[in-house]
Amino acid sequence: MVLADLPLSERDPALAALIRRENELEATTLRMIPSENYASRAVQEAAGSVLANKYSEGYARKRYYEGQEIIDEVEELAISRVKALFGAEHVNVQPYSGSPANLAVYLAFCNAGDTIMGLSLSSGGHLTHGHGVSITGKYFKSISYGVRRSDHRIDMDEVRALAHEHKPKLMWAGTTAYPRALDWAAFREIANEVGAILAADISHISGLVVAGEHASPVGIADVVTSTTHKTFRGPRGGMIMCDQKHASAIDKAVFPGLQGGPHNATTAGIAVAALEASTPEFKRYAKQVVENAKVLAAALGEKGYAIVTGGTDNHLVLVDLTPKNVTGKVGAKALDKAGIVGNYNTVPFDPRKPFDPSGLRLGTPALTSRGFGTEEMLQVASWIDQVLTAPADEAVQLRVRNEVAELCAKHPAPGLVT
Ligand SMILES: *Cc1c(COP(=O)(O)O)cnc(C)c1O
Repeated sequence: MVLADLPLSERDPALAALIRRENELEATTLRMIPSENYASRAVQEAAGSVLANKYSEGYARKRYYEGQEIIDEVEELAISRVKALFGAEHVNVQPYSGSPANLAVYLAFCNAGDTIMGLSLSSGGHLTHGHGVSITGKYFKSISYGVRRSDHRIDMDEVRALAHEHKPKLMWAGTTAYPRALDWAAFREIANEVGAILAADISHISGLVVAGEHASPVGIADVVTSTTHKTFRGPRGGMIMCDQKHASAIDKAVFPGLQGGPHNATTAGIAVAALEASTPEFKRYAKQVVENAKVLAAALGEKGYAIVTGGTDNHLVLVDLTPKNVTGKVGAKALDKAGIVGNYNTVPFDPRKPFDPSGLRLGTPALTSRGFGTEEMLQVASWIDQVLTAPADEAVQLRVRNEVAELCAKHPAPGLVT
C-alpha cells in the first residue's frame, strides 16, 4: 500500500490518538458550551470528503476554474435547501465561518470609518459587532448599546436614542450570550427611522429559527448572517441570507472581496445539515433544546443561583454565581473537572474582570442532541450545584464525573466513533 492510502491510525498514530481522546472526551462529558453541538455522522462525512480537494473560485455556473460540474450541483443543492428552510430570497454559503460572514456584510454596505452599531460584548453581543479589539471596532466608528440595569434586557429605548444620535450606516441585532428573544420588528423600525441597514446575526439560534422556536428575522432584516455549526448542527461554516436586491453586493463581498476558493466539503456538509434541519425530528429537537434550557434555569434558580433576566427564551442560561460566593472561572474549572463543560462569562454590569467574571454560560444544544430531556436536566442542575457548593472538593468532582459518564453512556452522542 502506498503511504497516501494508509488510514490515519497507521499513517499518523500520534494524531489519531489525539482524535480518539477527543472523541472519548465528547462521549463521556456534558458539553454545555452553548455554541457547541454534535454534528451528525452524515454531516461529518460530507465535510471530510474529497470535495475539499477542489478549487472553485466564483459561484455556480460562473467559476474561474474548469471541472466544476459536480461542485456547482453541490453548492446549488446547499443553497436551495437553505433558501427553502428560511424562506430567503438569496443565500450565500461560502463564508468560511460566522466572523467572515459578518465581515462580508461590512464590506457590502460600509466604507472604513462609517458608523456602525451593535450590542456590546459585556451585554451579550459578539466581537464582530464592533468591539474595540476586533477589526470591526478598529476600522469603523462603533457605537454600542447595552441592556437595562433593571432587568438585563436589551433597552430598545437606548437603541433608538443612540441610533438617532449617531445615524449608523449599519445596525447589528444578534447575540452570543443573551438568553432572551430579540424583537426584530422593533430593530427594523429603528433602522428605518435613521436609514440604517439592519443586519441580524442568528449564529447561535439559527437552528431554533428554522424550527420556529425563535422568530425569524428573514424578510425583516436587510441581511441575516449565521454560523452553520451551533444550533444548526452542521459543519463549521457560515452563511448569509438576504433579499434579491442585496444579492450582488453580498456575493461580491464574500468573493472576491474577502475570500478565495470556497470550502466545498463544508458546503456539502451545510447541504446535509439543511436536509436534517428540515425534518420533524429536528423540529422536536429544537423544541426540546429550549425546554431543557428553561428546566435548567428554573432548577438552578430554585437552588439560589441568580439567573440573568430570570430565565431564558432560547438555548442558553446565564448564571450569576455571586450569591454562591464562587467566581465564574473557579466555578467553570471545578465543573470541568466534574465532566461538565461550560464557560465562564461576564454578567451584565459585572463588577469583576472578563478574565475572571461573575458568571457562567451554559447551553443545552449538545445535551439535547444526545437525547436529554427534563429528567436528565434536573440531574445536571443537581450535579452543577453539588460541584459549585464545594468548588475545591476534588472527591465531589470525581464522583460527579463518574456519574456523568454513566448517564452519558445511556445517551450516546450522535456522530461519534464508538
Ligand atoms: C459564534 C458567533 C459568531 C462567529 O462565528 P465563528 O464561526 O466563531 O467565527 C458571530 N456572531 C455571533 C452572534 C456568534 O455567536
